[in-house]
Amino acid sequence: MNAINSMGPIAGDRSSNGAHSGSGNADCAGGSVAVPDSAPSADGKVRLRFLGSGDNFGSGGRFQACIHVDTGTTRFLMDCGASSLIAMKRAGISSAAIDAILISHLHGDHFGGIPFFILDAQLISRRETPLVIAGPPGLEQRIREAMEIFYPGSSGVERKFAVQHVEMNEGETTDVGGLIVHPVRVIHGSGSPPYALRVECAGKIIAYSGDTEWTESLRTVADGADLFICESYFFEKQMKNHINYRTLMVHRAELGCKRLIITHMGEEMLSRLGEVELEVAEDGMEVIL
Ligand SMILES: [Zn+2]
Ligand SMILES: [Zn+2]
Repeated sequence: MNAINSMGPIAGDRSSNGAHSGSGNADCAGGSVAVPDSAPSADGKVRLRFLGSGDNFGSGGRFQACIHVDTGTTRFLMDCGASSLIAMKRAGISSAAIDAILISHLHGDHFGGIPFFILDAQLISRRETPLVIAGPPGLEQRIREAMEIFYPGSSGVERKFAVQHVEMNEGETTDVGGLIVHPVRVIHGSGSPPYALRVECAGKIIAYSGDTEWTESLRTVADGADLFICESYFFEKQMKNHINYRTLMVHRAELGCKRLIITHMGEEMLSRLGEVELEVAEDGMEVIL
């Protein structure tokens, strides 16, 4: 048995409205060393876990964007922010036990963990199976540059595993290691096209906004999804390139998802959680689909 059931709160019951328990990070801070997650889930469910539900600045002591999904046959990450390897180790997830990493956009709190992931896979977990990383155009170059900045010479070394970069074009459905990924263009300056991602896996649809201000694209990506995970950086503060809770609630009825969970929360948002009527992600929170 892997460590999934022993770590963090479980939010599989849809009737538990408002799964948040405050603005702190007690679930994460209280986590002990977990048993390594060596085998995929085998019960036919899709298990999703928020490894990081915070913003780029670690607000509330939360880790940066990273969501772990286990379909029973494939295990993948949606986003891999700079802190993600730490969050993975806290949850007992090995860099050798991830088949694919899907990146919404090329900001450090969404892809900055990849250099550490790759080096850990090479030197610590001693991975030997291929790794697929999919994201916007420019992905491969930006990862190479990040590796060279952090650890000069690290991007070109020979490894025991291949890294396949898949640069997805907006609106084009792409097969990423058996995951059907549909990237939808959103509004968020990041040096390359930013995406919301719609992922079909094991008969479920998981939609994820990445970072964006409100756009009709969110209706597209969320439509019919079993779960839509949406950024809610602020409660009511307006900022270009990002969405706040008030705006999301104005458009809530337009989102045709079966379930909505908000994430990527900054300090202002975390200080207003008591007023929030949506499900709120926590680091370590598990969702079963
Ligand atoms: Zn961003
Ligand atoms: Zn971000």
